[in-house]
Amino acid sequence: MGKLQIFQFPCRDDNYGVILHDAETGLTVSIDAPETEAIADVLEDQGLTLTNIATTHHHGDHVAGNMALKNAHSCTIVGPQAEREKIPGIDERVEHGDSVDLLGHRFNVIATGGHTLGHIAYHLPNDNLLFAGDCLFAMGCGRIFEGDAPMMHESLQRLAALPEETIVYAGHEYTLANAKFALSVDGDNEELKARARKVEYLRDDGKATLPTTIGIEKATNPFLRCGDPAIRKTLDMESATDAEVFAELRARKDRF
Ligand SMILES: [Zn+2]
Repeated sequence: MGKLQIFQFPCRDDNYGVILHDAETGLTVSIDAPETEAIADVLEDQGLTLTNIATTHHHGDHVAGNMALKNAHSCTIVGPQAEREKIPGIDERVEHGDSVDLLGHRFNVIATGGHTLGHIAYHLPNDNLLFAGDCLFAMGCGRIFEGDAPMMHESLQRLAALPEETIVYAGHEYTLANAKFALSVDGDNEELKARARKVEYLRDDGKATLPTTIGIEKATNPFLRCGDPAIRKTLDMESATDAEVFAELRARKDRF
């Protein structure tokens, strides 16, 4: 197992594509396939042939490139068993607790339902990497389209339980809007204030605010801070459960 090269690039309106390559095994994986052309361009620039696509969920902006890339590269598509009928070209179906070997690296599958019911994240324990799809974002979390708030809360708790140094990639650049909301409920959090300023500079320069880490999210992402006394006080929910606080935060963000 060699060290992974990671190429992150913006595509569509606000999606990120991520391509992983191990020079030792010569294998290449795309995390989701938001758009054929942007992915094909990176592969061509780097002289890579795609071995696999690892799908997080069935939304169009995560699977749009599946068939064209599969036809061009004869790659194998891995994705959630629960969404197999909605994922074009899926070959290998995985579910929570499964471990698959891609690129010669171990990918652990974590159920992260809520945004979609069958959504999964991929954790590479030996590389300290997490691909969170549309479950966890920088200072935010995915909208709940198919599941409910308790399900999404549980999913985020699973990700928050990973080591703090875990490097997190996510499906979208939503960080600036997420920071504004986070400040509205956790405005005295110094680490959050500093991060929000940094994110503004990065976006002014057109730079990516991802990846992040589990540790940074636990310190600044309100959706991972449902037990925080200051946030609870702001919401006037001091005696509520964490799941109730989460549901209120998510509802407020939807209206924000
Ligand atoms: Zn989505």
